Amino acid sequence: MGGFGSGNWYRIEKKSTVEESLTLAMRNFRDRIHPRSSGTFTWTRTGGNKSSIGYLVTWGESPTITLHYRWRDSEDVQIPVHLQTTLTQFGGQRWWFTCPLIVGGVACNRRAGKLHLPPGARYFGCRKCHDLTYRSSQEAHQEERLFESIGRMAERLGTFKSQ
Ligand SMILES: [Zn+2]
Repeated sequence: MGGFGSGNWYRIEKKSTVEESLTLAMRNFRDRIHPRSSGTFTWTRTGGNKSSIGYLVTWGESPTITLHYRWRDSEDVQIPVHLQTTLTQFGGQRWWFTCPLIVGGVACNRRAGKLHLPPGARYFGCRKCHDLTYRSSQEAHQEERLFESIGRMAERLGTFKSQ
């Protein structure tokens, strides 16, 4: 099992993005939901670095997937994540992760189709708990700000014409 925290895992000042996180998608996992199912998920980063986590599915009161991995090469992390289903309008069932994070003393428990582990974070959680943004929207905002400041500068120079 690969470790986290070695290499380029540092927290930067801007918000982390979904793209730089390790993402566990229910879409890729739902076929493995049966009692005692176990295995690993592996991510390969640009440049070839691999990260992997192990999982084990247990069937107690509710089906649970326990994720286990080594964090920063020093700590063994185990997070039980409860699984839940909702009915689709066509009578099928849809699987969800239950976000396992506690933020500000309050358990999240949101249904999530994806769990993320952003750079520097220790536990997988939903996008809201990790306050993740998408790279594309961050870039869009930067462009917006750049456009605004060009607009203001032009105004000061007296060349800005409003319609
Ligand atoms: Zn959450």
